[in-house]
Amino acid sequence: MKAAFITGHGGNEVVRIQDCTLPPRAPGEVLVRVHAATLNQVDLYMRNSGAGITHQLPQIMGLDAAGIIDEVDACDPILQPGQEVVIHPGISCGRCEYCQRGQTVLCTRIQFLGEHRDGTFAQWIHVPATQVFPKPAHLGWAEAAALGVNHLTAWRMLFSKARLQPWETVLVFGIGGGVSLAALQLAKAIGARVIVTSRDDAKLERAGSLGADHVVNSRSGHVVREVMAFTGGRGADVVFENVGEAVWPLAMKSLARGGRLVTCGATSGDQPGADLRRIFVRQLQIFGSSLGTLAEFNDLLGFVTRSGLRPVIDREYPLDALHAALDQLESGAQFGKLALRIDGH
Ligand code: ZN
Repeated sequence: MKAAFITGHGGNEVVRIQDCTLPPRAPGEVLVRVHAATLNQVDLYMRNSGAGITHQLPQIMGLDAAGIIDEVDACDPILQPGQEVVIHPGISCGRCEYCQRGQTVLCTRIQFLGEHRDGTFAQWIHVPATQVFPKPAHLGWAEAAALGVNHLTAWRMLFSKARLQPWETVLVFGIGGGVSLAALQLAKAIGARVIVTSRDDAKLERAGSLGADHVVNSRSGHVVREVMAFTGGRGADVVFENVGEAVWPLAMKSLARGGRLVTCGATSGDQPGADLRRIFVRQLQIFGSSLGTLAEFNDLLGFVTRSGLRPVIDREYPLDALHAALDQLESGAQFGKLALRIDGH
């Protein structure tokens, strides 16, 4: 089969699309014929260094995927060949204290596809049957693939961690990236008010067409003033961010009393001033989050099916054009997800 490997660490020169042999499927696993996968920031991280993540080179890239089951154990109670599925990329041990509490995403031995083991940028993949869920029927392959990392991350952040309510206001920094767009979609779908920021007016305009209630160009330097004006001087109930240091002071000052900040990334730096006095005087809460559990993925898929929500796909590339897709991801110019179509089986 054909797959995209990282063969070292560096730039696009370490990314190679080549033929390889898929090992046989083990009992308890399903063999999925991949139709689409999407790119995530962590793909660039693994290409560039992969520091702190135990892995062996060469390794197949990619975390999320949607496809069709080719093989599954005959005794599987739910899955069968020919079924259209999406993959949850975090394979947990099932035995540690966190797994036993149902917090599979905190598993001490968790392995992510495309990080700790071979990933989804391949014509076929096998994963434990517990990682595979029915694909929402209204979605195309790339849209469905995007749910596995992007929307799952936003779902846990908004609803499990920050517990956003329909009558509340959420401020989403850096609209245009996949996770922040997912947050906009999910928050609007439950009826919350959403303020978004970007340095790019074109992205703000598109966010407005997706339902953002208020848009702020962060280059103007007036994010806090705009949030306060929009909320009657009160501030946002929830701040959703993955930018880190560059926006942290603005994020803290934009929160209402008792407000909650949830973060899943720090692309601009991870050591902002803590602003402790503000945290205890205004009784703020700060949540870290990463991906989501199997149970949260199941909830998300049910919600997506019922609400008709469709992830935003900026562009689809064939597998052979992965290098160009990685370049576009690195440029930050996209609005929504970059996807790989993996056809020609
Ligand atoms: Zn575990």
